[in-house]
Amino acid sequence: MGDLRGFLNELRRRGAIREFKEPVAIEEAYRFIRSNPGAVAIFEDVRGYDLKIATGICGSRELIAAAIGIEPAALHGALNEAMRNPLEPGEANSAAFSEAEPDLSHLPIARYYPRDGGPYISSAIVSAKSPDGSIENVSIHRMMVLDRRRLAIRIVPRHLFRLCEMARASGSRSLPIGVAIGLHPSVLLAASSPAPFGVSEYAVANRLMGGGLRLAELGNSTRVPFDAEIAMEGEISLEELEDEGPFVDLTGTYDIVRRQPVVRIDKVYKRDGAIYHALLPGGPEHAILMGLPYEARIREAVAAAVPTVKDVRLTPGGCCWLHAVISIEKQADGDGKNALLAAFAAHPSLKHAVVVDSDIDISDPAAVEWAIATRFQGDRDLIIIRGARGSSLDPSADQESLTTTKLGFDATRPMSKPRDKFLRAGSG
Ligand code: MN
Repeated sequence: MGDLRGFLNELRRRGAIREFKEPVAIEEAYRFIRSNPGAVAIFEDVRGYDLKIATGICGSRELIAAAIGIEPAALHGALNEAMRNPLEPGEANSAAFSEAEPDLSHLPIARYYPRDGGPYISSAIVSAKSPDGSIENVSIHRMMVLDRRRLAIRIVPRHLFRLCEMARASGSRSLPIGVAIGLHPSVLLAASSPAPFGVSEYAVANRLMGGGLRLAELGNSTRVPFDAEIAMEGEISLEELEDEGPFVDLTGTYDIVRRQPVVRIDKVYKRDGAIYHALLPGGPEHAILMGLPYEARIREAVAAAVPTVKDVRLTPGGCCWLHAVISIEKQADGDGKNALLAAFAAHPSLKHAVVVDSDIDISDPAAVEWAIATRFQGDRDLIIIRGARGSSLDPSADQESLTTTKLGFDATRPMSKPRDKFLRAGSG
């Protein structure tokens, strides 16, 4: 079950995927995806294309856990273990895909929302290497179709950006890349993880998959999963920029138009009956893939600061990115505030965080609000951090400096007062 097809078959067996077998126009498929965020579906027959469209497969922690073959409660531990102990994948003798015409108009790419700057690919991983080949990075980037062979790629100043700068410093005018679409959720989750520069996210994915990942090397020496539904060989121009955007980001609001690098596609490969993964921007798949690895990271950081962490959530209302709730077994007054400081340090985009006692179910927003209502005093239990580095995704942050005000809510019971006073009647 190491590829997307295997996982889709598993979902079919469970009756957990909606199958559209009748022919649909590409616009109808995208309208369904936009109107039904979180729906797990496959369109078997998209008029005018020889590819299917799948959507929603990474849209909940339960789906991701099922794909990896663990319980949802074990996700954070598995991710932290994979980032601590990445495992270099094996190389496949041959790829499961074969060469197709290099023409992006043959792929079922469309606008997700009417005001999108163009048709967007939002589920693709991009792999690239340092000039000496010693460092590989794999990350997810949105790419807007410019024409049959060119895309505009959004690159924030992280690892791929750094590889571009290294290529530029070595005198290159472009960075060779491998692009893959239609992947097992483990690969997408690993590509979203904050593994340090120098660690290939393929090795993180391979650990998550219990050593089951195999890679194929493309003609330009970049690597893609050998069983990717679609693979592309190309390069990022270090000279040519185009307008990229508008595009709906994680917050569900439109991100602005920016000058971004151009990707040129040289070769396209497809599996027979290839499946294109349409991932709704601002939808549940986007939120879970972004949020889960940072939940794991927050959990590890808080566990180093207070004796016992029960659970961590980046909540859906906070776009699985800006708001965290953390439950702890409090042992001393001050544990709550130390937990908050650790969480802010672990996830720089975090804006508001709430820490609660372990009797609170943090997957229930009403229970968390109840803890704030009955265990929190604003003058004593609130931490305010002004002028901290925030998220570029938050429209209310200072858009020039990208600084923000962070609030930490310590909604744990004070140790000095009788415990009984703070327990919900009937909760034991
Ligand atoms: Mn990386």
